[in-house]
Amino acid sequence: MQKPDRKDSLLFELPWHSPNPGLVVCKPYPKDRRPPSIPEELVRKEGTLELPSLDELSVVRHFTSLSQKNFSVDTHFYPLGSCTMKYNPKAIEVLIPRTRLSKLHPYMPHALLQGLLQTLQELEQYLMALSGMDAVSLQPSAGAQGELAGLLIIKAYLQAKNIQKTVVLIPDTAHGTNPASSSLAGFKPVVIPSGPNGILEPSLLDSAPLDDTAAIMITNPNTLGLFEAHMPKIAERLHARGALVYMDGANLNPLLGFVQPRRLGADIVHFNLHKTFGAPHGGGGPGAGPIGVVQELSPYLPVPRIENGKEGLSLQQENPESIGRLRAFFGNVLVLLKAWVYIRLLGLDGLRNVAMTSILNANYVKERLKGTYHLPFDTACMHECVFSDRVQAAYGIKTADIAKRLLDYGFHPPTIAFPLIVPGALMIEPTETETLETIEAFLRAMEAVAKEAEEAPEVLRGAPYTTPVSRVDEVRANREPRLVHPTSQEKKR
Ligand SMILES: *Cc1c(COP(=O)(O)O)cnc(C)c1O
Repeated sequence: MQKPDRKDSLLFELPWHSPNPGLVVCKPYPKDRRPPSIPEELVRKEGTLELPSLDELSVVRHFTSLSQKNFSVDTHFYPLGSCTMKYNPKAIEVLIPRTRLSKLHPYMPHALLQGLLQTLQELEQYLMALSGMDAVSLQPSAGAQGELAGLLIIKAYLQAKNIQKTVVLIPDTAHGTNPASSSLAGFKPVVIPSGPNGILEPSLLDSAPLDDTAAIMITNPNTLGLFEAHMPKIAERLHARGALVYMDGANLNPLLGFVQPRRLGADIVHFNLHKTFGAPHGGGGPGAGPIGVVQELSPYLPVPRIENGKEGLSLQQENPESIGRLRAFFGNVLVLLKAWVYIRLLGLDGLRNVAMTSILNANYVKERLKGTYHLPFDTACMHECVFSDRVQAAYGIKTADIAKRLLDYGFHPPTIAFPLIVPGALMIEPTETETLETIEAFLRAMEAVAKEAEEAPEVLRGAPYTTPVSRVDEVRANREPRLVHPTSQEKKR
């Protein structure tokens, strides 16, 4: 093709026009022009750094294409157990930026923050109503930080009463953050095995060091997706020995509007607003893990606390009994506002619908797949169900093979290898926001994968085939981890 004649065509060059956008090779910074503040030993001596110099459209296409290679709730069914990857109504995202709440600054005088403080106080009240607790703090930024706050409160409470107790009892079906938070707060986590039905039995406490027990931390529903039905009896027994009961309520969806943790005997509970209450979850945050406590523990809640005063609402910054500050300012305010909108949008009936639908969907998955995959605990579940790879293991297939093959069928895999008490676990949480059609399509994919495991296991062992990156060598990645971006020379090799 002939080059157009510049004079005749409409093309002309502007001083900043780059006729050939592409890779520009940058030479090391010339020695004589190096800023004197950079020490000699830090200056790159060899190798050239390639910086792409691209036009805007190419950059937009690159990043849009990258975003489309990912799996997300907006694009795919995402049944990642214990994580509640549900759909959060877009109305929530749209509403808050339209109000002046998103333009406030934490250093503004309280007189100008009355609307925000009132909204946050209402959220505290909604969470109090849903949990049955006497006080709520919105401070913690995540479920795990809520756990730490709760345990520090237990510690402060015991210290104030001059009681020396060091143990926190944790069932083997608890979330992994529970023992970690206990250790961080200076307690000794002691594991209690669950009973044959996958839940705690009061008699299992017989061999526990009850005299030295500060608290028990019960994840309810537990990580098998089962309701800890004996929690009131267990709480009674621990209360009689002067111990407290912490309920991990990160997975509150199936209990919403039906079961108040307080009625189960809990003294402290945390909520995950980014799982249960309409704030998107993933990408590392932001989240919010408010805690609710009974009256006796409320003086120890973190500061600041929202208070009613003569001049309206204000933030109480100091309180000698408080465990102190957990973070800057009032909490992750935008996440908190999303939870407020979510609760107001749904109302109590809507929240109850969340609970019932989450339970219905999980039990439907459980019943439909139980002949195809091994179901270790065959009882009614709450919002998620746990299978194992035992049937497929006979053909040399593991959970990871099943998970990777599901990607080819267009589904994000369930959680695998957790909970630890089920070897080869496959933990499925369909959530309440999926349609029956989507769940059916997922079930057909799970059945197809099980059939392949039996008839053509090598297909599963090589999966995935349709993703931008196919099966990676996990053993080699473990043994020879490459923690920096490869240089251009290494890439060419
Ligand atoms: C997700 C989860 C947590 C931890 O919450 P983060 O916000 O991720 O810190 C704790 N417990 C249970 C049961 C969970 O599912």
